[in-house]
Amino acid sequence: MDGRADIDAPGADAPGPSDKPAPEPGWTKTTCPYCGVGCGVRIKPAADGLTADVEGDPDHPANFGRLCSKGAALGETLSLDDRLLHPMVRGKRATWDAALDEVADAFRSAIAEHGPESVALYVSGQILTEDYYLANKLMKGFIGTANIDTNSRLCMASSVAGHKRAFGADTVPGTYEDLEVADLVVLVGSNLAWCHPVLFQRLAAARETRGTKVIVIDPRRTATCEIADQHLALKPGTDVALFNGLFAYLAASKACDAAYIADHTSGFEQALATAGATSLEEIADITGLSRAEIAAFYRSVASTERTVTVYSQGVNQSSAGTDKVNAIINCHLATGRIGKPGSGPFSITGQPNAMGGRETGGLATMLAAHMDLDNAEHRARVQSFWGSPHIADKPGLKAVDLFEAVHSGQIKAVWVMATNPVDSLPNADRVRDALGACPFVAVSDVTRDTDTTAVADVLLPAAAWGEKDGTVTNSERRISRQKRFLPLPGDVQPDWWHIAEVATRLGFGAAFDYSGPDDIYREYAALTALENNGTRDLDLSGHTDLSRAAYDALTPSQWPLRERDAAADNDAGDHAQKRFFADGGFFTADGLGRFVPTAYRAPASAASPERPFVLNTGRVRDQWHTMTRTAKTPRLTAHISEPFVELHPADAKQLGVDAADLVTVESAHGQLIARAVPTTRIARGSVFVPMHWTAQFASAGRVDALILANTDPISGQPELKYTPVSVAPADVAWQAFAITRRRPEPSAFAYAAIAPLHDGAWRCELAGDALPDDWQTFARALLLSADNDGRADVLAYFDAASGQFRAAAFDGKTCLGAIYAGIGPVAVSRTWLISELAADISASDRLRLLAGRPGADAPDRGRIVCACMDVGQNEITAAIRTGGCASVDAVGAATGAGTNCGSCRAEIGKLLNDRAHAEAV
Ligand code: SF4
Repeated sequence: MDGRADIDAPGADAPGPSDKPAPEPGWTKTTCPYCGVGCGVRIKPAADGLTADVEGDPDHPANFGRLCSKGAALGETLSLDDRLLHPMVRGKRATWDAALDEVADAFRSAIAEHGPESVALYVSGQILTEDYYLANKLMKGFIGTANIDTNSRLCMASSVAGHKRAFGADTVPGTYEDLEVADLVVLVGSNLAWCHPVLFQRLAAARETRGTKVIVIDPRRTATCEIADQHLALKPGTDVALFNGLFAYLAASKACDAAYIADHTSGFEQALATAGATSLEEIADITGLSRAEIAAFYRSVASTERTVTVYSQGVNQSSAGTDKVNAIINCHLATGRIGKPGSGPFSITGQPNAMGGRETGGLATMLAAHMDLDNAEHRARVQSFWGSPHIADKPGLKAVDLFEAVHSGQIKAVWVMATNPVDSLPNADRVRDALGACPFVAVSDVTRDTDTTAVADVLLPAAAWGEKDGTVTNSERRISRQKRFLPLPGDVQPDWWHIAEVATRLGFGAAFDYSGPDDIYREYAALTALENNGTRDLDLSGHTDLSRAAYDALTPSQWPLRERDAAADNDAGDHAQKRFFADGGFFTADGLGRFVPTAYRAPASAASPERPFVLNTGRVRDQWHTMTRTAKTPRLTAHISEPFVELHPADAKQLGVDAADLVTVESAHGQLIARAVPTTRIARGSVFVPMHWTAQFASAGRVDALILANTDPISGQPELKYTPVSVAPADVAWQAFAITRRRPEPSAFAYAAIAPLHDGAWRCELAGDALPDDWQTFARALLLSADNDGRADVLAYFDAASGQFRAAAFDGKTCLGAIYAGIGPVAVSRTWLISELAADISASDRLRLLAGRPGADAPDRGRIVCACMDVGQNEITAAIRTGGCASVDAVGAATGAGTNCGSCRAEIGKLLNDRAHAEAV
């Protein structure tokens, strides 16, 4: 495919936004679609629309021009080869009319026969605020059920619940600037360096210039710890005990703000009594931390007025997630350190528009515009505003319960939008089975082949990032525009259009007749303003009259955006810092912030002799969610290209597992196979597996298939970071590394992890449970296609004594592919071999390729650490060992590593620290 112009033309019935011309070629300002930092991006697509130049937007107040490795690679993710470009009905291409009629008919019949509670919509923090608003309006106002939930339930529902309990509203009190003007930043359950890299860079820069103290509270020693003054490696799930102790210590050491407590809060004594019921000895026992470590942490917080506590998924993804949030907030309320520059509790969301979902009622437990389902006045207000026939009057099914209801047969028709629940929900195989058996499943998606589209009856092609038009809200309440800079390919239409069309077919056309996203945004803004008068935090009254031109020109703005504050907002421009609660003004009935008693509870399940390890899950630096976009670029897959299991070296030894062995991890629900990484970064008895790998990229790497469906009783957020598992060496007969020009099918192997390379090639880690009958035949089948089989030279080597087999296929000077197999892990220079794919291979170099290692004239660069500058670990280590580099900047000057986006600087710091440690001992 040469460009977007070459794909099939839209179907004749494809109306709406695709009729509008694409924006003029040139640079467009938009927002990164990955994490909740919400960085501003400037992008200029190439003429074919398949690649683009990308740079950070220097004017955007989230990043001031910075981008991380994922954001910097956005221009490499625009290709169309994996895209869903046309509606599909039961595997066949269909017209929009046919596909939308199928969805509307299925919903209509289920509602007629079983009532509105028999249908559900499962949406995503990837969709835009305008999409979210319409989805919520359709379900809660017109279908009359609150069975709409979002994958943000998996990400930050505990923060929402904690905020509502303490503040009376889901308000994030602070701003990113607080991390730069704080004297102490406590990071709890947050690997900021890998999950929110630009915010990490802002913190690291502030630490350099003003000596900010950083404390990391995390069971793992993550990359974030490279800038930590103290790392508290507490036992998983014990944060409440630690923060209860802190609360009691603050009170005992007279660090509380008595005036703030008296004037602006309620419930102090009761919450303190609960917090103080656990002694320091007991806290040490529960958390596994020493008394000295705990005391040092408590002293640091007590003595530092400007303290920010940043927390993320390590806090939220827990059966006690809401209590963890409130235990943290209690400490900030007690000290009055909230809503002031450099102080406050700060929840950082995972997804780019998790906040937009929270604002528009994307969660089954909320109404739109920060109004409440259980408040009759709010329900009446929203229903009257919408002019809707219904308004849901009770919470709908939260994500885990929703898919359980699909499994039980209560839900007869479900519509999944922009997410991949077959991989991301706990007990994921059960979710896959439930959707497979559900009478009707529709999926709106960008990607054609996901583990969820595989079980859908109807597929609706959705606009991808560069084709979307609307708004997102980042973790500091800043609304930014995502702007369309590419034409809609094929029959693709934006998500809001899918919703409006189905709503129209259900008979609600008059209420879903929008001219574009600006029209939806104005209505949403008007709802936030309706009878608000300062009673609700979310107020966009200043945006209710935005023209299309003003909407297009919208610059990043923090809410509230009140009409009465418009002049001040204009004066402050994009860089306004708006904080809540420094002087009280909470959104509870009495206006007081609430202390919440938070008694410590152990995680919902416990390790046992059969499953003695605790499985923790999380992200890696260069991948995003289920890899549908980040795995499109070899630059990002070069960093970590297969699923892995971190485990402590002593545990590995006890299990008979060496570094790079394949291991099986098994829970009560499922199992996976991944590469062992013994490391002291993790405590004994714990293992860590990344969340990203799906059946599209690995044969047995779906970690959520193992996760128990335990949830927080208040937020409904699943405990994704605590599952008892067993670990054992994987029973495989052979392993291989291969480079091939054709995509292997992962499910054909006992173990396979595949990742794309340039020019349609693939890197593959493979293993099988029985040796092939004939390696030569196996290699030819893997490496060659019908196109090149006839003209390929295959050079092969087999050593019966060691069981090693190697083969490389050539077409003249071009290497078509190579395989390196043995009975254990394969030690070859992968980075070098991949680079050879693009090189001319002379006859004399063929043997060197078969050896799998460069000659002395071409040193092995090792695993790629710096994705932007393409610098390998061995190059960095050499700069440190023999080049005398003693700082990250010196390594950067010598090798280029860490000099572009900076995402790898923490890893370079670790290599420097490892070297310093080795010299010291
Ligand atoms: Fe995107 Fe990285 Fe910024 Fe997150 S930190 S918004 S992934 S550029």
